[in-house]
Amino acid sequence: MKVRTRVAPSPTGDPHVGTAYVALVNYAFAKRHGGDFLLRVEDTDRARSTPESERAILHSLRWLGIDWDEGPDKGGPHGPYRQSERAAIYREHVERLLADGHAFPCFCTPSRLDDLRVAQRAAGQPSRYDGLCRGLTPDEVARRKASGEPFVVRLVVPSEGVCVVDDARRGPIEIAWSDVDMQVLMKSDGLPTYHLANVVDDHLMEITHVIRGEEWVSSAPKHLLLYSYFGWTPPVIAHLPLLRNPDKSKLSKRKNPTSISFYERMGYLPEAVLNFLALLAAGAVEGEELFALAAFVEHFSLERISLGGPVFDVPKLDWLNGRYLRERLDTESFTERVAAWGFSPERNARIAALAQPRIERLSDMGNLLAFFFAGRLSYDAALFASGKIEIATVRKAIAVVQRELDLLRTWESAGIDALFRRVAEAIEIKVRDLTRPFYIAVTGSPTSVPLYDAMEILGRDIVRERLRHALEVLGAPSKREQEEWKNIGTASVEITA
Ligand code: GLU
Repeated sequence: MKVRTRVAPSPTGDPHVGTAYVALVNYAFAKRHGGDFLLRVEDTDRARSTPESERAILHSLRWLGIDWDEGPDKGGPHGPYRQSERAAIYREHVERLLADGHAFPCFCTPSRLDDLRVAQRAAGQPSRYDGLCRGLTPDEVARRKASGEPFVVRLVVPSEGVCVVDDARRGPIEIAWSDVDMQVLMKSDGLPTYHLANVVDDHLMEITHVIRGEEWVSSAPKHLLLYSYFGWTPPVIAHLPLLRNPDKSKLSKRKNPTSISFYERMGYLPEAVLNFLALLAAGAVEGEELFALAAFVEHFSLERISLGGPVFDVPKLDWLNGRYLRERLDTESFTERVAAWGFSPERNARIAALAQPRIERLSDMGNLLAFFFAGRLSYDAALFASGKIEIATVRKAIAVVQRELDLLRTWESAGIDALFRRVAEAIEIKVRDLTRPFYIAVTGSPTSVPLYDAMEILGRDIVRERLRHALEVLGAPSKREQEEWKNIGTASVEITA
């Protein structure tokens, strides 16, 4: 049997380093065994999925040098590879489960489910569906469907016993069925949830090994149940440890940049980032920390996956990247990399156009534009205190804008402009006063080229990191402040649910 693995990102945000790490391991496993590696886009969450995110994820994986044999851009014998284009397939499979009594329609309203959750929480019980609609007679189901009542479809789960998940790296993991919820498989809009779509696709796409993040362990029983209901042989399953912040908490963008495009924009070389992710997954290759993808693949096995939570240690990545820059590039290829990173003709033109109305000599450009070519900026923190708004408001403004920027679907200056107007109104200050600290945080100076254009060119990731740094300098928001500021400035049509 030919080994087939996949990575199945959901295009709901930045291309995450965790996605690349999982992709790399699946790629290496497939290639080590002469198999195929697929890319499938899991975009069943229509409210949060965007084409921009899908493009960014595919770009980042390609940039890293992880190539797939089948995928939405390449096609292949098991397409389409985008779940939003496979709705009819899932519907057919849900019908099968319903007909066999392995799933049931549930008419419970969101408000009943909320009340249930509240009651369960008050009683110290885990929140889960209580099975009310499982007892409906076929006649009642038919009557309620005919009257147009919205319903979801839920999975029938055994009420007793344990499910043994045979993890290929960790060994058997036992999970009691009483801990497994009657999962919604199809939403009231007729679209599947992750669990159903994922299992149906893994089967139809002939995936032999599912290697994914540890956060999916608790979902494995639902998946295994679906395989058995459909009468299919499940794939081999293995769960990778989660990447961690240096303080061992789960890697999060609040503490560490997690977007691959951030590392690209910061001027890390893709081969260094890939090498770093490979080190996190399975350690040195034959005692050497610097190695190419081909060597990683050649020596890869599931047994080599380290289970202790690998720490995403940026200084280590810096060290590795430095070695690649110094040891692996001759002057000519180094120059090419520099040009591709920050001096493409298109980027040059956009940046020069911003400078043109603001300079008297071409040499003024150095100081004016240096922030476009920098990572973290160094500036005098006292600058923040010299404007019209007091520091407490500056901190609030940065925290609110930072959160709102994260919710912006498309990254372009007009949307950023609208966002600043909205926040200025919400916190009742003039837009000009609001933008001043952002000039400092983003460009290093209270006066510069137009802020929103600069932000667009710098990109979401660099801007996020600079705002994070400014807040670090000024004092990160406390829990109480976060709570207080939670509802300021939201409610835009551009903001996703
Ligand atoms: N769409 C899921 C994710 O983004 C895929 C998980 C899996 O590999 O099954 O993590």
